[in-house]
Amino acid sequence: MGMRPCMRCRRRFVGKASHIYPAIMTQPEPWRQKAALCPTCFYEIIEWAKCHLANVNYDAEPENADVEDEFCPVCGSGQQKMTAIFITAYPAGGERLDFFGECCDDHASDVVEVLGYHPLHST
Ligand SMILES: [Zn+2]
Ligand SMILES: [Zn+2]
Repeated sequence: MGMRPCMRCRRRFVGKASHIYPAIMTQPEPWRQKAALCPTCFYEIIEWAKCHLANVNYDAEPENADVEDEFCPVCGSGQQKMTAIFITAYPAGGERLDFFGECCDDHASDVVEVLGYHPLHST
C-alpha cells in the first residue's frame, strides 16, 4: 500500500494517495480521468482550482448559487463558447472538495494539461 506511482508525476511515494475526479465537458466526448495522486501533485491541482475555479459546496446553503465567473482561467476571455470544468477531489484522510468553472473551448486542452495527464491534443 502506498508505493504505487503517482498518475501525474509518475514518482512513487509513501503514504496514502489523494484522489481526483475531473470532468471537462469537451465535445463530443467529455474528458474524464480519475487519478490517484501524490500529495505534491494533489496540492498543485487544488491550488490551481482555488485560483481559477469556484469552490462549490453542494451540501451547504446555496447562497452563492449564481457563480457568474465566466472567464476562461487560461486566457481570461469570456466571449466565447465555454466548456464546463468539474473537479471533485478527495484528499487522503480529508473532506471532499468540489470545484466548478468554465474555460473557452480552445483552452480545454490547457486545463487538461494543468491537471497533468493525457493532454487532449499532443501538439
Ligand atoms: Zn505526483
Ligand atoms: Zn481561453
